[in-house]
Amino acid sequence: MADKLLDIQHLGVHFAIGGLFDKSTLRAVHDVHFSVDRGDIVALVGESGSGKSTIAKLICRLEKPTSGKILLDGKDVLETEPHAAGKEYRKRVQMIFQYPFGSLNPVHTVAYHLSRPLQLHQIIRSNDLRPRILQLLETVGLRPAEDFIDKFPHSLSGGQRQRVAIARALATEPDLICADEPTSMLDVSIRMDILRLLTDLRKEQQTAFIFVTHDLAAARQLADRILVLYAGQLVEEATSDDLIADPKHPYAQLLLAAAPQQGGSLDTPLPAKPGAPKNVDPQPGCAFAERCSQAMDVCRQQTPGWTWMENKRRVRCYLYGDTRADEETTK
Ligand code: SF4
Repeated sequence: MADKLLDIQHLGVHFAIGGLFDKSTLRAVHDVHFSVDRGDIVALVGESGSGKSTIAKLICRLEKPTSGKILLDGKDVLETEPHAAGKEYRKRVQMIFQYPFGSLNPVHTVAYHLSRPLQLHQIIRSNDLRPRILQLLETVGLRPAEDFIDKFPHSLSGGQRQRVAIARALATEPDLICADEPTSMLDVSIRMDILRLLTDLRKEQQTAFIFVTHDLAAARQLADRILVLYAGQLVEEATSDDLIADPKHPYAQLLLAAAPQQGGSLDTPLPAKPGAPKNVDPQPGCAFAERCSQAMDVCRQQTPGWTWMENKRRVRCYLYGDTRADEETTK
């Protein structure tokens, strides 16, 4: 039976934007719920601005939600005492950032970067620091580790820097790592190596990953399940194979249609009706209705809820059932 590690319940972030007389609400993330089992890899996929990176930051407690719950092993981490519980939580939930050139401090060596989490979380005695750092470098494929430990970030390639960032995330032996587009700044040849490394880490250490990406091919290769986001809302969840073989939600279909056969990047424009995601002062109805070629009257009047399908698949669209958001049931 699956061992549930993380449970996200109705998570939301709404910002007030605008001036004194033209206040608006930006709904960056709205009513997002999903779970991650121990050793699971879940991909969050969507266009820029869909809320996927914000969700990763919320889960890593780098931003505060305005609503919802984050449960780790069934314990609501937002209710516990912020500082002490936050430190313990951060030990168990780590983040890899998108930009390997900015996530390492140029004035410090690799050894310094990897020693910080080990010291801050009092994981190791100072005599054992160097052997443990060498071991971490070996784990992420920087071999021989002695050649890298005293280097500064400027003398490393982008791929090597991202491996150092991954080693830093691994230092606390976390249960979950949120990887925010970890390969998007790297050359294509290096991307595959980093994805392989993450897959190996999952196998060897049972680390769960939330993999934020706009690269459907990478999501398929790495993830057990894919969650599709649009305008801050989840619109479809399925196993990677099911979603790539037969996307149900019209937006997921557009994402797949826009992805090249090789590489799967979504940098090319989507073959959709013109329009941007509506998440400023959102009105009732489907957020995708303006761009959807199959929109019906009901789509513009009431927000669709979840329709559940085989294989724990769910889709938020009236084409698959008349479930309204205010009367939906979770299964
Ligand atoms: Fe299109 Fe309606 Fe489905 Fe939204 S609910 S994706 S508008 S068919």
